Amino acid sequence: MSKLKILKYGDQLLRKKSAEIKEISDDIRQLASDMFETMYAAPGAGLAAIQAGYPIQLFIIDVSQDKSGALALINPKIIDTGDKIIREEGCLSFPGIYADVKRFETVTVQYLDLNGRQKVLKAQGLASKAIQHEIDHLNGKLFIDYLEDWKRKILEKEIRRKKKSGDW
Ligand code: ZN
Repeated sequence: MSKLKILKYGDQLLRKKSAEIKEISDDIRQLASDMFETMYAAPGAGLAAIQAGYPIQLFIIDVSQDKSGALALINPKIIDTGDKIIREEGCLSFPGIYADVKRFETVTVQYLDLNGRQKVLKAQGLASKAIQHEIDHLNGKLFIDYLEDWKRKILEKEIRRKKKSGDW
């Protein structure tokens, strides 16, 4: 296993759409394994392959406190949603930046697991938030895109300050 470098906001790859995965090879499984190591070390609750420089439709989440909730999702599609709720959110590509984002409280997602089996998962709470956040990454969308202009400007100013101080 090896730790991956996480791309930070400003890297144009984060705006790219990820390609569907046609074949779930050992390389994909190795990448997922490296992503788990990287996410736990960060620490974080979710990581998309594109954040490590691989624009393919794979992401991982674990919203547990004890590494017991590890899930890898390939080619995910949201097939049902519930009501919306506002929660604070962060992102490993935005170290130290948090913002309130309105998302579905529950989502049902269809995906392939690392063995190519089709699965359906109904998620709520933190898992639902993480799944929606990571699926956005696969579409080149970032959580700050949801914010009102004035709020995003404040965060972008903070990011510029962090970049200047080498903290990004
Ligand atoms: Zn993120």
